Amino acid sequence: MNENLVRGKQAVVLGLGESGRAAAELLCQKGANVIIRDNYLNERVDQVARGLGARGMRVETQATGFTPCRFDLGVLSPGINPSVPLVTQLKRERVPVIGELELAYRFCTVPVVAVTGTNGKSTTTELVAASLSAGGLQTVACGNIGVPFSDVVRAGEPLDVITLEVSSFQLEGIETFRPRVAVYLNFTPDHLDRYQTMGEYRQAKIRVFMNQTAEDFAVVNPDCELPALAARRVTVSAYHGGADYTFTGGYLCYHGQRVLAQEKTRLRGPHNAENQLAALAVADLHGVPLTETIDALRAYRALPHRCEVVRERGGVTFINDSKATNIDALEKALLGQTRPVVLIAGGKDKGFDFAPLKNLLAEKAREVVAIGEVQDKLVAAWGQYVRCHRAADFAEAVSVSARLARAGDVVLLSPGCSSYDMFKNFEDRGRQFGELVAKLD
Ligand code: ADP
Repeated sequence: MNENLVRGKQAVVLGLGESGRAAAELLCQKGANVIIRDNYLNERVDQVARGLGARGMRVETQATGFTPCRFDLGVLSPGINPSVPLVTQLKRERVPVIGELELAYRFCTVPVVAVTGTNGKSTTTELVAASLSAGGLQTVACGNIGVPFSDVVRAGEPLDVITLEVSSFQLEGIETFRPRVAVYLNFTPDHLDRYQTMGEYRQAKIRVFMNQTAEDFAVVNPDCELPALAARRVTVSAYHGGADYTFTGGYLCYHGQRVLAQEKTRLRGPHNAENQLAALAVADLHGVPLTETIDALRAYRALPHRCEVVRERGGVTFINDSKATNIDALEKALLGQTRPVVLIAGGKDKGFDFAPLKNLLAEKAREVVAIGEVQDKLVAAWGQYVRCHRAADFAEAVSVSARLARAGDVVLLSPGCSSYDMFKNFEDRGRQFGELVAKLD
């Protein structure tokens, strides 16, 4: 972005989450006058607001009231629905409204690898960053995974490439964002509380390719329905024999040649193989020697809350898969189990149909303990196929599961739903699970 387009201009940032805060700070660094609006005042917002205020930015909430103002630019945080009244008004007034991803990209001078998909984004983003680093490239894993893209751009560290996790919400707000490599892992139902249809969700996701040209690369899963792509395609699949990168007989393979046995790494299952294959593909596109990528894949430890073993107790293994916030992730966690499962599932309803999992549950699960807002819906969908119990709260869910489990079983927290009905976020849910499990005597 030409800095003159921002310098001295009046910008409004909607939403004071991490992305909104980072966008505001980047805008401020580039010389804009910044107002941040958030409907809700809580301790965190208040604290962040004071920090930004000290640097000349103004935060407005329902408590402070919203000053009527003419804006030259709007930046929308990914958590905010683009149909909110201020966005509608800005659009009516022909004020450009972009997302934080687009804002950061306009000031970014480094090529970007963007990783998207319904599941596996964080794992793959980290695997890619580790593989590129192993090849001597300076990179950071950022975006939806934690550190916002805007913070990385504002810090201006000398990097060779930025490894960026991007969500569909972030992609809604792009205009010129053009990753040098776009990784599209998979596409399954999610966020049906935000999108009216799966088609709408897909439209948002495939925007990752929209500005790519024949000079760029698309690392894609051939099982996904995709439009014709301008970028050069590299295919990755654990289930599709004809892909460039495949998973065969427990080996990660390139054009049929064995590259690495998955058991030599700390990740398990075909879904993780796809994440690893994508990292192999991206590293190869960047000229990283295969031996270096293999070392990086072998050294990589899974992130917490993704099928993480938290305790062994009386022959029962307790697994925290709190990050499973949709049905596909829950399905993958179940598929990965070789022992009878006592499943803790449920949470906030995102509009899923849970019935398709009933046969897998009948095969893998001994009992289900249903939690949260969606518990009646789960019991209705699965009750005829597996014994289901309702827990009044999370502590009860853990104690009931522990009581139901027999030696040799697995107690698996893989909610298949988001956490916001009972917890701050999935990390909070996973942390509480770990604490409750640790307290069992
Ligand atoms: P995301 O950042 O897309 O949410 P994560 O890597 O954090 O992805 O994993 C989220 C959940 O999805 C975890 O429960 C994990 O076990 C599961 N998962 C990871 N990779 C895949 C994949 N390629 N396909 C399906 N599920 C996956």
